[in-house]
Amino acid sequence: MCYAIPGKVIEISDKIVTVDYFGEKKKAINELSNLKMGDYIYAQGGYVIKNIAEDEALAILSTWKETFFELQELDLRLSRMDSKKQGIDKKLALILDKSAEDLPVKDSELLYLLSLKKQHELELLFKVSNFLRQKHLGNSCCVHGIIEFSNYCSQDCQYCGISTNNKSLSRFRMSQDEIIDAAYLAVEKHGFKALVLQSGEDPAFSVKDLCKIIAEIKKRSPVLIFISSGEVGFTGLARLYQAGARGILMRFETSNPRIYKELHPKRDLESRIAHLKEAYKLGYLIITGGLIGLPGQTNEDILADIKLTRELNAEMYTFGPFLPHPETPLVKSPPPSVEAVLKTLAVCRIAGDKEAKIVVTTGFETLANRAREQGLIAGANSVMLNVTPEKFSKNYCIYPNRAHSKEAIQKQIDATLKILRNLGRAPTDLGITHG
Ligand code: SAM
Repeated sequence: MCYAIPGKVIEISDKIVTVDYFGEKKKAINELSNLKMGDYIYAQGGYVIKNIAEDEALAILSTWKETFFELQELDLRLSRMDSKKQGIDKKLALILDKSAEDLPVKDSELLYLLSLKKQHELELLFKVSNFLRQKHLGNSCCVHGIIEFSNYCSQDCQYCGISTNNKSLSRFRMSQDEIIDAAYLAVEKHGFKALVLQSGEDPAFSVKDLCKIIAEIKKRSPVLIFISSGEVGFTGLARLYQAGARGILMRFETSNPRIYKELHPKRDLESRIAHLKEAYKLGYLIITGGLIGLPGQTNEDILADIKLTRELNAEMYTFGPFLPHPETPLVKSPPPSVEAVLKTLAVCRIAGDKEAKIVVTTGFETLANRAREQGLIAGANSVMLNVTPEKFSKNYCIYPNRAHSKEAIQKQIDATLKILRNLGRAPTDLGITHG
């Protein structure tokens, strides 16, 4: 199983290499010491991950070649814009035309898009964002794996099922060896090239422990590692980067300071944002975003969240629905509608960085059965599969009935690849240079 296509190195300029994929040229950062012109490599998230033998690469490329072009053609067909805009008001037609041409769209216009309600108008919005996704990023869809290694948390986020205040949750903590083995399996057996290591803010894992785990995973298998254990401090960020982490997944949750404070009594928004800024300065790839549908949140807040995500130089936008958990103070607050989530994804594509990835979150899949297909044709181009061993994943209960939490990894992979194939997407992340 393969989530990346090997590419050939055709130029090396200091740390930046140019890689050829069936004639498409992409840049990537190289940290391998022995890379030469003409070598075949796997890249992920803009990083060279692994050098592979020429005969192995050529064998993989020959099986990919036909499929690669077939998928591209299908995606192109499915994302084609329909020039007919019958029954659409003039104002909307104008905003969508500007969006499709990458012209600046005003905040008031983006808010108008977020307020759309009529089905035929929403469909047109999603078509435009899908068109933009295809235009800027082609048909590649990145598939990251996520290992949730501890559900202990010292924080008391008011919406979160693993908050320290939830006394009825059965807690688990994977051992260092279990985490390293799970990562090894995900990379070597299932073919993942990028993994997120996520947990609550668990004091039992010191930065030193996390560094050890990251270094050991990277020693055993080449993989792009994202950390997601909350606020580890600036020194912690630097040490984790040194140990080999190259990405961070950390939502700021909401850019509205009042809502943030209400939902995170022990924390403040500035500190979360400062962490993300520091991580970017250190060279981390940033995955960030917010929750959709928080109590008291307005469309103005959602738009501010999208703009903040852009400001934070996110290479991947993660926006998912708030889902009420019965053991939290927000049990009675309703989740957002499926349309509200799709509109947010579409506006991320229109107002966000054109090269950014947008992920269909597991939260969205929990809210809507067809979330993956719906999200991917509304501008998204990434998915994250849960590769936590099944005996642990059922207790990583941040909200109830989490999609896929009881599914075997292989079953998730097969289902995802089928959806991607049907949409003409290639499960690859060809990589673009960040920074
Ligand atoms: N400790 C890390 C951190 O602080 O980012 C990662 C763990 S935290 C549980 C991961 C994410 O779960 C949060 O960023 C939050 O958006 C999401 N989450 C928690 N409770 C949720 C809920 N009830 N509905 C939807 N998402 C939720």
